[in-house]
Amino acid sequence: MENNNSNKRRYFLKIQGVVQGVGYRPYVYNQAIIFNIKGWVSNQGSALVVDLEGERNNIKTFLTRIIKEPPKLANIEKVEVVPKRFTGHKEFNIIKSSFGENEVKFVAVDVATCPECLGDVLNPSNSRYQYAFTNCTSCGPRYSIIKGLPYDRVNTTMKAFEMCSICEKEYNDPTNRRFHAQANCCPNCGPSLKLLTSKGQDVLSEDPIRDTINFIKQGKIVAIKGLGGFHLACEVENEKTIEVLRKRKNRPHKPFAIMVKDIETAKRLAYISKEEEQVLLSNKRPILILNRREVSILPEIIAPNTKKIGVMLPYTPLHYLLFEQNISFLVMTSGNVSGGPIQYENDKAVDYLRNIADYFLVHNREINIPVEDSVVKVIDNKEVVIRRARGYTPYVINMRVNNEIIAFGAEQKNTFCLSKKGYGYLSQYLGDLKDFDAYSTYEKAVDNLTELLGFTPNMLAFDLQSRFLCLQYPKYQSKRKVAVQHHHAHMVSCMVEHNLCNSVIGVVFDGTGLGTDGTIWGGEFLVGTRESFNRVGHLKYVTVQGGDRAIEEPWRIALSYLHSMNYDVTKVFKDIDEEEIYMVTQALEKKINCFKTSSMGRFFDCISSLLNIRHRITYDAQGAIELENMLNPYIKESYEYCIIEKDNIHQIDYDRIILGVLRDMEKKIPTSVISAKFHNTIGNATVDLVCKIRKKYDIKQVVLSGGVFQNNYLLLYVLERLKERGFTVYYNQQIPTNDSGISVGQLAIADAIERKG
Ligand code: ZN
Ligand code: FE
Repeated sequence: MENNNSNKRRYFLKIQGVVQGVGYRPYVYNQAIIFNIKGWVSNQGSALVVDLEGERNNIKTFLTRIIKEPPKLANIEKVEVVPKRFTGHKEFNIIKSSFGENEVKFVAVDVATCPECLGDVLNPSNSRYQYAFTNCTSCGPRYSIIKGLPYDRVNTTMKAFEMCSICEKEYNDPTNRRFHAQANCCPNCGPSLKLLTSKGQDVLSEDPIRDTINFIKQGKIVAIKGLGGFHLACEVENEKTIEVLRKRKNRPHKPFAIMVKDIETAKRLAYISKEEEQVLLSNKRPILILNRREVSILPEIIAPNTKKIGVMLPYTPLHYLLFEQNISFLVMTSGNVSGGPIQYENDKAVDYLRNIADYFLVHNREINIPVEDSVVKVIDNKEVVIRRARGYTPYVINMRVNNEIIAFGAEQKNTFCLSKKGYGYLSQYLGDLKDFDAYSTYEKAVDNLTELLGFTPNMLAFDLQSRFLCLQYPKYQSKRKVAVQHHHAHMVSCMVEHNLCNSVIGVVFDGTGLGTDGTIWGGEFLVGTRESFNRVGHLKYVTVQGGDRAIEEPWRIALSYLHSMNYDVTKVFKDIDEEEIYMVTQALEKKINCFKTSSMGRFFDCISSLLNIRHRITYDAQGAIELENMLNPYIKESYEYCIIEKDNIHQIDYDRIILGVLRDMEKKIPTSVISAKFHNTIGNATVDLVCKIRKKYDIKQVVLSGGVFQNNYLLLYVLERLKERGFTVYYNQQIPTNDSGISVGQLAIADAIERKG
C-alpha cells in the first residue's frame, strides 16, 4: 500500500486574512478526507495553518481547493507554502487554536443569512423553523457582537446563552456547517423576540412577528431591533403613516430606504442591471441606490424630488419572517432622531424612540457595537461605497504603512482609521460628531476597535480643524500629532485605494474643509504626493454671510455670490422675505459674520437656489442633489467661464457662469436645461484647468475626490473627457469619496511624513 514514500510530500501552509470564524477549518478537514491528506489544521494567531502530508498529485488538487476555492466568507491576504521533511502522520485532525499576541488581526464582518439557514427557517420540519436567530459559520452576526479576540463565543454577546446539547453537538462536529459557529443557537437555548408598547410594556403576543406586521398594516410605526441596531418600519403604500414618521423623526425630505421581499419585487420598483442585482444579492446586503421606475407604486413622499430609491433585501431570518406575513415592502429607516446615532440597546431605544415608534419588536441578543446599514451604488459597472457600515466594516486595507497611527477623521460623516503591522483598519460610519450622542458612540467604537487590535499608537492624525478630537484621548497626549489638511486627505484617500505613490493632480470638490490659509476650501486643484501638496488652482473665492445658517439656507449663499458681482438682486429672490434680503446684504457690506470660501458644494447650492429649486435644505447636500436630479442629460451646451491666474494659482471665475444662468432664466429656458448647462460648464472648466496643470507639471495621473463627486453626472462627465485627453483617472470606490474616507487619507499622510522624518 504505502511501500513507496518517494511520491509523498509534506508542506506547511499558512493563510492570512479573514480566515477565522468563516468555516475554514472544517472545510480543510473535509477536503483532507477527500484527498487522503494526513496532518492537522489549526488557527494560529490570526492565520490558518495546515500541516499536510500526502501524494504529490493529491496535494496539488487539495491546495488548489483550499486556496482557490475558499469558504465564501474568507478573504485571503497572503499564502505561504513551505516544504517540510516527511514524517508520516496517521490521520487528519483539527487541533486547538493558539493565539499569539503580536499578530495582524482580522475582525470578521456581519453577514446576511445564507441560503442553507434560510432553508432551515422556512422548513416546517426543521428544529429552527421560524427561528429568527438562526445562523451558521457562513452567516450571521460578527463585528456587531464581538467584544474581544480571538473570535470565540465567550468573547461575544452570545456568551449570555448556554448552548443546548443539540447545538453543542453541532458546534463540535467538524462535518456540521455549525462547527464552531460562535453565535450558534436554536429556539431552545438562544435569544427570543418580544413586542413592547411605546412605553416599554410587554404586549401579550403568541407571534410577535405576525403581530408586528398586523400593526404595520394598521398604519403603525414599529421600531425593530435588527443586526446592528434599530430600524423604524412602516408600510410603504401608506402616505399618511410616512408623513407621521417624517414629522416625528424630524426628517422632512431626506429619502427613506425600503426593504423589499425579494429581487423580483425590487425590479418592480427600480431598474436593476446585472451588476446591481449582484450587489443587492451579495451577503453584505447594503442599501443600493437605484433609478426608480417612472410609474411606481411608491408614493412620492418616500423620496421626494429625486429619481432614485434606496433598496435593500432582507438580511436576517427576522426580516425574512416579516415578509412571510403577506407584505412585500417596508420602509426601513435608521432608528434614530434625525442626525443622531442609531439606537441599539433595548432600554435606551425605548427612551429615545418612544415618541416616534408605536411599538417595539426587540430581542435579547445584545448588540455590542452599533452598525448602520451600508449605502452603495453602481457606477460604470463597479460598486461605489457611499457609507461603509454593516457588512463592509471593519475594512482592512493593506496600506504598507510603518507606524501605528490613529486618524480621527472628519467631524461630519465620521469614520476613524487605525494602523497596525502595515494594515489600516477603517471603522464603520459614525455620523456627525456635533451630535452629543453620536460622539459617545464614536468613543465607544474607538475603544472597542483599539482593544480588539491591541493597538498602541505612536502617532495621532487629525483634521486641521479638529485638534480637539485628540485631546479626548489623554493617554495618547505624549504621541506625535499631525494636523492634516482636509482636501489633501481626500486626495490621498483615493491614492491609497488605487495604490498610487507618485505625484498626482488632485481635483477635490466638496462642501467644507479648513484650508491652510484660514479660509474654507472646497473647489481645489492640488498637485502632490502623500507627504505634501501644492494648491495650484481653485474656484474663485466668494464671501458668504451667515456661518452655519448659510449652509442650511442656500439662498444666503446665492445672495452672497450676487453681492460679490455687484448684481442687482431685487428681481432675483421672489420667494424670500425682503427684510431678510436687506439684513444679509447689510451684513455682507459690513462684513459681519462672513467667511471666505472656494467651496464647490456651496457653488452648487447657489445655483440650486437661483433656480428656485431649494432655498432651505433639511439634509446634507439637498440643493445639489435636487439640482442634479432634474438635469436633462441630452443637453450638450454649456456656459462661458474663464480661468484667471494670480500668483501662480489658477482660479475658475464664476461671474460669467452665473450671468449665463440668469440670462437663461430671463429667457424662460427650462430648469432641466439650465441645470445640465451648469453641470457641463463645471465639467469643462475642470478639464480645462487640469490640462493647464499638466502642461506645467507634466503629470498625467488625476485623482477625483470629495463629496461633490457623488454627483454621478459630473463624475462621469469629467472622467470621460479627461480620459479622452490622455489622462489616467482615478476616483474613490471602496473608500468613500465623501468625508467618511478622510481618516484613511489622514493616516497615510501622517505615515508618509513620519517616514521622511
Ligand atoms: Zn447560515
Ligand atoms: Fe470633505
